[in-house]
Amino acid sequence: MISVEEALHLVLQHKATLAPEEVPLSQALDRVLAQEVLADRDFPPFDRVTMDGIALRAEEVQAGTTTFHVTGVQAAGAPGMALGEPGTCLEVMTGAMLPQGATAVVPYESCSFLGHEAYILAEQVLPGQNIHKQGSDSKAGEVVVTRGTRITSAVVSALATEGRAQVQVLSLPRVAICSTGDELVPIAQHPLPHQIRQSNGFMLAAALQEENITASLYHLPDSAAEMKESLVSILQEHEVVLLSGAVSKGKFDFLPQVLEELGLQLVFHKIAQKPGKPMLFGTMPGQRVVFGFPGNPVSTFVCYHLYFKPWLQASLGLPTAQAWAQLDQDVSFKPALTYHLPVVLHNQSGCLRATPVTSTGSGDLTSLLKATAYLSLPAHQTTFREGEVFPVTLI
Ligand code: AMP
Ligand code: MG
Repeated sequence: MISVEEALHLVLQHKATLAPEEVPLSQALDRVLAQEVLADRDFPPFDRVTMDGIALRAEEVQAGTTTFHVTGVQAAGAPGMALGEPGTCLEVMTGAMLPQGATAVVPYESCSFLGHEAYILAEQVLPGQNIHKQGSDSKAGEVVVTRGTRITSAVVSALATEGRAQVQVLSLPRVAICSTGDELVPIAQHPLPHQIRQSNGFMLAAALQEENITASLYHLPDSAAEMKESLVSILQEHEVVLLSGAVSKGKFDFLPQVLEELGLQLVFHKIAQKPGKPMLFGTMPGQRVVFGFPGNPVSTFVCYHLYFKPWLQASLGLPTAQAWAQLDQDVSFKPALTYHLPVVLHNQSGCLRATPVTSTGSGDLTSLLKATAYLSLPAHQTTFREGEVFPVTLI
């Protein structure tokens, strides 16, 4: 049996290579950019007026002129005009091109008008004031967004500015979710006394939706032959198969054997952890990976967050930084297993503190509803003191 750290290390060693694909910018949010985006023109592309007011030669004000004759209006979106003779100005609007010859913009708030004469109220007018100089943010040909950037709304703004209606992003893996077990019935069906509703498939599908992945859902019965037959086509059509259940020691836990018959290269089976000890991970021919999560809803949930999510992050080239939190009360756990303790996180004077959520074990779904994270208490320790700091996984 391997440790949690080793298991994660092995999972990350088998990260996927994801090919680029083109998507409309409107669908690119949260995806990872697979191309370098260069500025196609300077930004701003021209000397841009940043306040409504009048454009003039600052030097004339500095030399003592206080009244300027207004000869016209330069609107945003209109081709650039030119300033007339000394003693004249043009009204200019925010976003307009700075008229040729002008060196400053005096906002309306600092002028008064009488007919076509503008009188400067400001004490001083400096060259360059209220002008956003061409190319001062970025120059044509410069890299605006680097490859590997996660596309946030701010990145969307930059891509739109550069006219990228279509963008190259990393494709997402095709994922199948297979729940197993003869006791499971569809959630819309009324279960008989010996049956339960199939919840893991929905939980995993929802978690994947948060990653922009729409997974296909399957249910496999507790029969080796039927499992095998279904898995042949599922493995053909998906790069990732997430299985829940049938990986423990039960009489009907056929998955490890069936997967092996289908060509599984087992990377590990069993991790020194609770919950989720029977977890299995392996690869299949054709760059496929298989995560076999134990069926207990909490085990499935914890294993998804601890192993699948970092695998996906790594495959997308995104950082997988470990967060830490401080235990806010003593906890004891005897078995030589890493104990993933459900906790509620809160901030205390800038320190992330973790309050344990009372749970009855792997099957305790209610703990999932209360917890905001899992604190991983190491296997080599049995007593964990208030104030000690441990790795934490947000859920
Ligand atoms: P297994 O890992 O197959 O031994 O299942 C462990 C426990 O999880 C059993 O009590 C199962 O009934 C339950 N279980 C397995 N799969 C699911 C599922 N998809 N939804 C809800 N409970 C499940
Ligand atoms: Mg089962």
